[in-house]
Amino acid sequence: MATEMIDKKPTTLYREGNRSAPVIRGKSESLRAYRRQIADAEFGPDARAHVLQQVSSGVPLAEAAAQVNVSIVRVYGRALWDEEFRVQLDDALDAYSAPFMSDKCGTPAGYRRRKCRCRNCRAAHSEETARYR
Ligand SMILES: [Zn+2]
Repeated sequence: MATEMIDKKPTTLYREGNRSAPVIRGKSESLRAYRRQIADAEFGPDARAHVLQQVSSGVPLAEAAAQVNVSIVRVYGRALWDEEFRVQLDDALDAYSAPFMSDKCGTPAGYRRRKCRCRNCRAAHSEETARYR
């Protein structure tokens, strides 16, 4: 078993029927690394910088994402696991909404009607929806 682990990749062992915890964990890690490689190829550093710059200067996120041919899901998906990008995206979204949201920011209506996705509006929205769960 121990030498098997050294000789073969977890994905190979899994395919051969090995369902031990280390193999399952190793397979998951390997697939995650593979998916992130794809994510990086589709939404690389230049594309990310472009989206952040556009959003900060007042372009809606969906439009900024479309400019570099990525879906909004790809953008939010990256923010789920890339802590640095998440903070940058939140800063950009805050900067995006600041000029036109004024006092509506941080209210459920800011999120719902004005489609603001800054930290405060998202917090107000999740607080509101939590009451219905
Ligand atoms: Zn807001």
